[in-house]
Amino acid sequence: MHVNEAFRRVFGADPDGVWAAPGRVNLIGEHTDYNDGFALPIAIPQTTLLAARRRDDGRLRLHSAQGDGPVVDLAVADLAPGAVTTWAAYPAGVVWALADAGHRVGGADLHFDSTVPTGAGLSSSAALECAVAFAYDDLYGLGLGPPALARLAQRAENAFAGVPCGVMDQMASACCTEGAALHLDSRGTVYEQVPFAPGARGLSLLVVDTRVKHDLGDGAYAALRAGCEQAAALLGLAALRDLPADGLDAAARVLPARLLPLVRHVVSENARVTEAVAHLRAGRVEALGPILTAAHASLRDDYRVSCAETDLAAVAAVDAGALGARITGGGFGGSVIVLVEEDRARAVGAAVTAAFGGAGYRTPHLFPVAPAAGARRVA
Ligand code: ADP
Ligand code: MG
Repeated sequence: MHVNEAFRRVFGADPDGVWAAPGRVNLIGEHTDYNDGFALPIAIPQTTLLAARRRDDGRLRLHSAQGDGPVVDLAVADLAPGAVTTWAAYPAGVVWALADAGHRVGGADLHFDSTVPTGAGLSSSAALECAVAFAYDDLYGLGLGPPALARLAQRAENAFAGVPCGVMDQMASACCTEGAALHLDSRGTVYEQVPFAPGARGLSLLVVDTRVKHDLGDGAYAALRAGCEQAAALLGLAALRDLPADGLDAAARVLPARLLPLVRHVVSENARVTEAVAHLRAGRVEALGPILTAAHASLRDDYRVSCAETDLAAVAAVDAGALGARITGGGFGGSVIVLVEEDRARAVGAAVTAAFGGAGYRTPHLFPVAPAAGARRVA
């Protein structure tokens, strides 16, 4: 395996094993996880591989094939939030989160090689974290299992890397299975696998990576999350998940105007997840199309996390005959997913690329995805 050779080149010894953790696309249920709500992600074939070797001297050494940086050499005992500010914060944060939760973990040599595009809304950060969590679970005999590892990976991203994300990305990378979408209830991290095989219905799920990431995203995400928490508090709810769809009118009388659209998105998006799962259970994959398009409108108009590039991708795809399209991931750029009949996929892809050319945007990356396996040991 290529990562084994690279590991030997970097660290001068054989790894103890190789682990894989995938990126994800979320079919529906965006910005709902930190509201204790529902989501429906799939793992994608794009994966982060980690060749790892346990060390018993307390050193944590990290190297990535992406970015060509030097080996990052840290002492596990010195790990603390704020101590690492580069990419290494994501993997080192997992080791910190494990130790902070009372698990007896030491050092390791870690070499990463990933096919998950970074910053494209496909969760390369969660893939990085989950690879480390799964490797440590095995190397240190922790016996924690996927959902607990996902929670620790989220804690690493929140408390160590300083990104206030919900748990959906890590749950998708850790718990998804091939051929299924993960119906996630973020309250208590409950989940079930829902069979999802667009190919069997003559359909294709395309990812349009717009290759833009707008900087305002970082602060805006935290502000949106804070807005949701404030709205829940004003409504006397533990989380916005507890507001039923018919409670919106009453909520409108209580909430400041700026918070109402956020609440409307979360409530309608949770309902869309439930609706999408019912369609998938009944084998109506094509019925996801209008749900995706409605979700895009909600993210654009109510939650306001879309941008010109993602709006253009979604509109161009639907105009060219796709069944539906929406921005996936946190927003402010990143990727759009498109559900399309297989025999129209080429024409729809060409229409999106042409629309980007016409607007003077960078050429997007387009690729089909099918639901792949979650994190696991591969060697
Ligand atoms: P996303 O998770 O949607 O890809 P994020 O901004 O959450 O976007 O995470 C991207 C960051 O994760 C990168 O900027 C980098 O710091 C880190 N990262 C992800 N994969 C790798 C990798 N293979 N090697 C080094 N850093 C990585
Ligand atoms: Mg991320």
